[in-house]
Amino acid sequence: MTGLLLRDVDVAGVRLDVRISAGRVAELGAALPRRAGAEAIDGRGGALLPGLVDHHLHLLAMAAAERSVRCGPPTVHDAPGLAAALAAAPADDGGWVRGVGYDESVAGDLDAPLLDRLHAARPVRIQHRSGALWTVNGRGATLLGLATAAEPGVERDGHGAPTGRIWRADAWLRARLPRTGPPDLSAVGARLARFGVTAVTDATPDLHPDALAAITDAAASGVLRQAVHLLGAPWRTPLPARLSAGPHKIVLADSGLPALDELAAMIRAVHATGRAIAAHCVTREALVLLLAALDDAGHRDGDRIEHAALVPAELVGELARHRLRVVTQPGFLPDRGDDFLRGVPQAEHQDLYRCASLLAAGVPLALSSDAPYGPLDPWTIMAAAARRRTASGAVVGPAEVLAPRAALDAFLTPPDDPGGPVRTVRPGAAADLVLMDGTLTDVLADPHADRVRATIIDGHVVTAA
Ligand SMILES: [Zn+2]
Repeated sequence: MTGLLLRDVDVAGVRLDVRISAGRVAELGAALPRRAGAEAIDGRGGALLPGLVDHHLHLLAMAAAERSVRCGPPTVHDAPGLAAALAAAPADDGGWVRGVGYDESVAGDLDAPLLDRLHAARPVRIQHRSGALWTVNGRGATLLGLATAAEPGVERDGHGAPTGRIWRADAWLRARLPRTGPPDLSAVGARLARFGVTAVTDATPDLHPDALAAITDAAASGVLRQAVHLLGAPWRTPLPARLSAGPHKIVLADSGLPALDELAAMIRAVHATGRAIAAHCVTREALVLLLAALDDAGHRDGDRIEHAALVPAELVGELARHRLRVVTQPGFLPDRGDDFLRGVPQAEHQDLYRCASLLAAGVPLALSSDAPYGPLDPWTIMAAAARRRTASGAVVGPAEVLAPRAALDAFLTPPDDPGGPVRTVRPGAAADLVLMDGTLTDVLADPHADRVRATIIDGHVVTAA
């Protein structure tokens, strides 16, 4: 096959044909002739958009979640339900049961004794839905050697005994678990393609060499077609085609913020390598600390904030002044917005997952899923950004509603310039495209993944409905 001809598509309101060749948009025009050997698709007047970019997700955690038992709503709601789900779950090659998405509403604060009452027969590890915490049962604790572990993330009670809770120590944990072969990214790539996503930013900090190798191999073998921008890429390691190094992820953990001078030194060290920073920043305290550290260390083009879950009104202008971009996730609002409204003082509800006020202040804004910790579907995230409704119907920060076009645009900016100029379908552009069923007006009136007719990555039709 030499090239691809998209007939009768709507590009920015004009119906025409688009020729694709060698991974690029080659030509736009009326009634373009079909070249010998070229595949042709009838667009039926549907919108042809640049492929969507998910600016923050976690590829390997997504792959792992595909083989894990769901331990929270909407799958599991109470302790007996969780016990039944664990009993029915297959173990991995190493004999472990792996659970994800735990929420305190199921059985309260989980620790090893509680988990043993739910399932003691096999080693179990369950990830909290925030991604920051793993809890293991008694067998798991023994296999991991928690009693004598030096890792500071291993939580201990007043007598020094491990509780079964392990905070932000994924690399440590992985090194102690049986090897179960490289994670399979094919299902992840296929799901992304079905949503029209042609590029992603993997936001996992400090990618382990094995993790980087798994992503590299998946990209090289074509199992994962999307271009991948990495916030956890090692410094100065050359990356193959389709992979690129982004800003360096710094996690400002809610559970233990660094000292100001320590953070400023870290930012300076990152900037000195020529990279910007991507700061995981969820609380007001973390944001205040980050801004102070940037005042000290100086900013660099491309510095960004991941999540920005709580931004007080008086700091919106400060984000602009520090030339920070924000990569945020309004998809959390339908998913767990009611929990936020319960957990955050009323006076701060307007500060949750801001969107419109950031744009109005001149802060570049990009949207993302944070999958598997947030819902992946970008079309439901766009709808969430435009409605901001929780599951119970409450509206979170009505002033932060985005116009549907602005929500779409926040998925169309380049991976290395989130919130920057929106990519367009024009000659010379990369042929990373999504063909919709219906015009852009139809799509924006009711954003829905069902409207994705075909996803084209690097000039190839990856999925077609
Ligand atoms: Zn994340």
